[in-house]
Amino acid sequence: MHFHSIKDLLDLPELFVLSTKKINGQIFIDAAPVASHQSYPVCTSTQTICRGVNSIRKVRHLDSFGCVVYLNLPAIRLSCTSCGAHFVWSYDCVAPKKRYTKAFENSLPKQVVGATVIHAARVTNTPATTIAVFFILGKPKKPHAFKKPVNHKLPRTLNWC
Ligand SMILES: [Zn+2]
Repeated sequence: MHFHSIKDLLDLPELFVLSTKKINGQIFIDAAPVASHQSYPVCTSTQTICRGVNSIRKVRHLDSFGCVVYLNLPAIRLSCTSCGAHFVWSYDCVAPKKRYTKAFENSLPKQVVGATVIHAARVTNTPATTIAVFFILGKPKKPHAFKKPVNHKLPRTLNWC
């Protein structure tokens, strides 16, 4: 199977598959971002310098072919030449400092409808604490978008009787 076929199965267009390994019923996919640079999200400058790879993030993705799938993603260090800030590459498929892809997190409620935390942990092959976070405490909500304040000025020609 060619790597572009694996990329189609992964459905993560931002990643380039470098290699795959199957060890003890677990599939490890070494991947890297397709883009060569990433703009700094705070100042939105595209003038960034790659400072190397800090570490490899092991991120759980959707199971495939009866195996647990992990993505090995490089934690690429970058610095902005405009403001001098240092930051780490941000992937669209996984939130910062998370160990599960967004696709995997979204699949959890569908897989364990009506199950207990222990049963859900067994079915999804994830720690019970992870299931508890998603089902008991609730998934972290998106921050509210900035709303423009409503102007509550009264019309000048308001007649009070
Ligand atoms: Zn900057």
